[in-house]
Amino acid sequence: MDCIFCKIAAGQVPSVKVYEDEKVLAFLDIGPLSDGHTLVIPKKHYVKIHECPGEVLASVAAVLPKIAAAVLKGTNADGYNVMCNNGRASGQLVEHIHFHIIPRKAGDGVFT
Ligand code: AMP
Ligand code: ZN
Repeated sequence: MDCIFCKIAAGQVPSVKVYEDEKVLAFLDIGPLSDGHTLVIPKKHYVKIHECPGEVLASVAAVLPKIAAAVLKGTNADGYNVMCNNGRASGQLVEHIHFHIIPRKAGDGVFT
């Protein structure tokens, strides 16, 4: 399967890793919307949330707090957005489920 995030999960494509365990990987976004923009993925390939078993999403949710805390601390941000695009119409370009953690500072204008 020609999936860039599967290749990253398998170590076949380089990434700047933020967190890794048996089921989950977090790495820096190559085109960050803000400093420290991080993507969190299940290592198993699913395209969209409604196609993904709950336990796979649960393994991501279980580690999201500590990844978000690390991103927040590492960037000294005031807040962050967690975003998951599902389907081309929503802006999903990479068809492997990923949660964006986008660090925010007051008045940064990231989404304006
Ligand atoms: P989305 O539009 O929600 O599918 O977001 C895909 C994200 O993946 C974008 O923010 C891209 O910058 C990011 N991206 C694409 N290829 C890579 C890569 N090789 N390493 C890290 N991030 C990537
Ligand atoms: Zn994949």
